[in-house]
Amino acid sequence: MIRTRFAPSPTGYLHIGGVRTALFNWLFARQHGGQFILRIDDTDQQRNVTEALQPILDGFRWLGIDWDEGPDVGGPYGPYFQSQRQTRHEAAVKQLLDSGHAYRDYALPEELQAEREAAEAAKRPFTYSRRWMAQTEADAARWEADGRAAVVRLKMPRTGSCRFHDQIRGDVEFQWSQEQDHVIQRADGTCLYHLANVVDDHDFAITHVIRAVEHLSNTPRQVFIAQSLGYELPQYAHLPYVAEPGSANKLSKRKLDKYLKHPDFKKLYEHGLRIARAIGHATTGETFNPVIVDFYRTVGYLPSALVNYLLLLGWSLDDKTEQFTRAEMIEHFTLERVNKSPASFDPLKLWAFQQREMVALPLDQKVPLLVPFVRQAGWGAALRPAELDDRVRQIAGAAGDRIKAAGDILDYPEFFCADEQLVMEPKDVEKRLRKPGAAELLRRFRDMLAELEPFDAATVEALLRSFLEREQIQIGEIIHALRVATTGKSVGLGMFDALAILGRQSTVQRIDRALQLL
Ligand code: GLU
Repeated sequence: MIRTRFAPSPTGYLHIGGVRTALFNWLFARQHGGQFILRIDDTDQQRNVTEALQPILDGFRWLGIDWDEGPDVGGPYGPYFQSQRQTRHEAAVKQLLDSGHAYRDYALPEELQAEREAAEAAKRPFTYSRRWMAQTEADAARWEADGRAAVVRLKMPRTGSCRFHDQIRGDVEFQWSQEQDHVIQRADGTCLYHLANVVDDHDFAITHVIRAVEHLSNTPRQVFIAQSLGYELPQYAHLPYVAEPGSANKLSKRKLDKYLKHPDFKKLYEHGLRIARAIGHATTGETFNPVIVDFYRTVGYLPSALVNYLLLLGWSLDDKTEQFTRAEMIEHFTLERVNKSPASFDPLKLWAFQQREMVALPLDQKVPLLVPFVRQAGWGAALRPAELDDRVRQIAGAAGDRIKAAGDILDYPEFFCADEQLVMEPKDVEKRLRKPGAAELLRRFRDMLAELEPFDAATVEALLRSFLEREQIQIGEIIHALRVATTGKSVGLGMFDALAILGRQSTVQRIDRALQLL
């Protein structure tokens, strides 16, 4: 049985690089009919874990990456919070001490520092002398009487090498001489991460450790711990990190200002910002950042588009296939086709994926995604739910591919505001409505609209055509003024669609109001 895991720390946010790692674990487990486990690495947590975990769980749920065991769902190997597994970790430390693979070390920090400096001065790599390693209980008792306290260190091999196979990198070798006697338990009894990690993976019967390449250099000590405890090693697969747009550096949530100098990134960000502001969502860098999954949820991306994009961030089936349904991803995913080198986050490509999926979505599926944005913006409060749905459907139908993310419905406030609250762009009023003759034409056309029956896009269009003929004018002489009077601006949906959505009463009232203001 294949069992994989993703082990986030509760940081309060879900980094898209982390999601990519989780996704690969999830796909691998699903493909093999195995299990995907979420473990929470919360041993070094200062903050409120529940609060800091919520955005991570919400993010995964939104993306449709479900876990078989872990927080909220439980499972037979629990607890799934590392901080609740301390007794297991302590037992492992004891076992390592008993078998001589670890020792109690009574060195003071300054003594270690002195050794380190001496090595540096002699230009040789630092290896601890083990001067304060307790060989006997008597050593321990004596040093403790002197007021020293012990940490537990691994007694790492000093010659030879650590070899293991990595599913992505192939055979890897690290020289033991490059390793240190890593601390696994502090003087206060708390256990350190590498130990906890190995013990938990073993206890959870994890078969494949698929994680970011940053952990590759930690693997030798983890291999040493696992082997010393008599565990069978899991299969390792170290994924390349996700790089910044246009560079090979690791993508970081702390470099928003830098990334905003990248034109495509900036475009993605600013589009999102417009939507976030319209719904009153906080837009500080901490949470509102395209490096974090929450950004896409806030703005109304399709989770399937984001997942499809992340799949290709480091994996490919061949040179051409880009679109994958969830089932196809599960079917085709292999670790063998994961790239060794980092893939750069490409905002333009993500945007193209999003756009493609959104445009292809049938109206019936689109409308329920759009309506919550209208509600969050506080618009359409006077409309009954069915009316609001209907209006959103009409707008989305007329807008077609202009709605690229669900939040783009907020580009059309003119269809949700009361007629007397329509905001008209001053420069458009000046240029379009105050143009000599425009008001007079508008008045005459308004009288015809007031009589039109039925009132829909086709009849409005036919009416306008006959009006042009009667007045012997070009369409441009009236349409701009009509548009500004009814929608407040000079760009937007097709004019006939727009008037049909507004309906006769609103159309006429808005024209009247515009004429009065002139
Ligand atoms: N909690 C670790 C991290 O977030 C997990 C490391 C691992 O996957 O082994 O980096």
